[in-house]
Amino acid sequence: MSFKDLGLSDALVKAVKEKGYTTPSPIQEKAIPHILAGKDVLASAQTGTGKTAGFTLPVLQYLSETKHPKYRPLRALVLTPTRELAAQVYDNVREYSSYLNIHSAVVFGGVKAASQIATLRRGVDILVATPGRLLDLHDQKAVSFKRIDVLILDEADRMLDMGFVRDINKIISFMPAKRQNLMFSATFSKDIKQLAQGILRNPVMVEAEPENSTAEMVTQKAYQVDKNKKTEVVTNLIKNGNWNQVLIFMRTKHGANKLTKKLLQSGISAAAIHGNKSQGARTKALSNFKTNDIRVLVATDIAARGLDIPLLPHVINFELPNIPEDYVHRIGRTGRAGASGEAISLVCSEETEYQREIEKLLGKKLSTEIIEGYEPTDNAPPKRAATQTKGSFNKNTSGGNKSKKKPHFKGNKPSSPSGRGRTGAPKKKRY
Ligand code: AMP
Repeated sequence: MSFKDLGLSDALVKAVKEKGYTTPSPIQEKAIPHILAGKDVLASAQTGTGKTAGFTLPVLQYLSETKHPKYRPLRALVLTPTRELAAQVYDNVREYSSYLNIHSAVVFGGVKAASQIATLRRGVDILVATPGRLLDLHDQKAVSFKRIDVLILDEADRMLDMGFVRDINKIISFMPAKRQNLMFSATFSKDIKQLAQGILRNPVMVEAEPENSTAEMVTQKAYQVDKNKKTEVVTNLIKNGNWNQVLIFMRTKHGANKLTKKLLQSGISAAAIHGNKSQGARTKALSNFKTNDIRVLVATDIAARGLDIPLLPHVINFELPNIPEDYVHRIGRTGRAGASGEAISLVCSEETEYQREIEKLLGKKLSTEIIEGYEPTDNAPPKRAATQTKGSFNKNTSGGNKSKKKPHFKGNKPSSPSGRGRTGAPKKKRY
């Protein structure tokens, strides 16, 4: 199957070729023909599946083939949960429309509205936007939704999580009832289905891959560690493994700042990306990370969602997410586009329940190991970890683990050939 076979025009096929895509991804193959046919589509697809081209290409084709008044009323709107995702989607729109007479723009908060208003006044066919700023601009009469033909909700599940439902419904209330609706979401939860019911009409459902399945190419590992030693473990993994592009997930903004500071102190270039950072700081952190000017990006779940970081080799869960689905989203950042990747989770005793929840969702156990010298030493270790850790470091600790190898950082060689200390007691760190 080629892009041409999907019914895309020569101008779009040319633009796609220039991006280096040879064949459509599964979600593109499944969604594009329906979108071209004018149907409403509810698609389950995460970032990394090629979903953006999946909706952008057919919508651009529609816009370029239909007549419109000279003043170019807004005809297609893409709503995204985060500013970064809006910027990325817009970059894609611009690239794919290189050979089309299409005007596009992006608007999001955190930056001045004046230039956005000026751009909108000049006439825009397709707009990418975050809901809050878009409503502000609508209140200021800088944009109208009266001529919208296509509405696209990207990462709809995250928009729900971020509390955008009211904004979305308000925006929709200004649109004509007759329009095409496309909804992309990483999961098909009950809430998403409910939101979809209110917006989509007889949607075709397409799925990029089975719900909650994790990329085949991703090696997933959990290290049981002492909570207070996580920073040291991360620093050593990065330094000794010579890792140059690492995405680290934290549960809180404060935690992200703290870890970033510690990494910088130990000579590892890093930046944090979360909701309290200014738009300028977020954009700069992401671009420095993509160009390898910094080694580590420390992110919260919401800030990281939807970031397009191709071929990311390492993802570390500094803390396990308390929502199991977030684990799947996090590790979806590695092993993308056929490249292999590694996702490592640092699990302290109080997080073992989270690990069990994640394993339940995945339908498999994570390969779990203990790093010598960093064993969980919390006062109330979980039952299984406690009994198996004692004097038997090499034992698996979550039942069906694949690997029995105990990891050693470089320079932290075991003192006995078996890799076990003479007494089996926690070893002194040797970095
Ligand atoms: P997305 O899921 O839309 O964020 O896309 C993930 C990455 O895949 C982006 O870097 C795209 O440029 C890239 N991509 C999209 N479609 C294809 C394709 N058909 N072949 C190869 N790469 C693609």
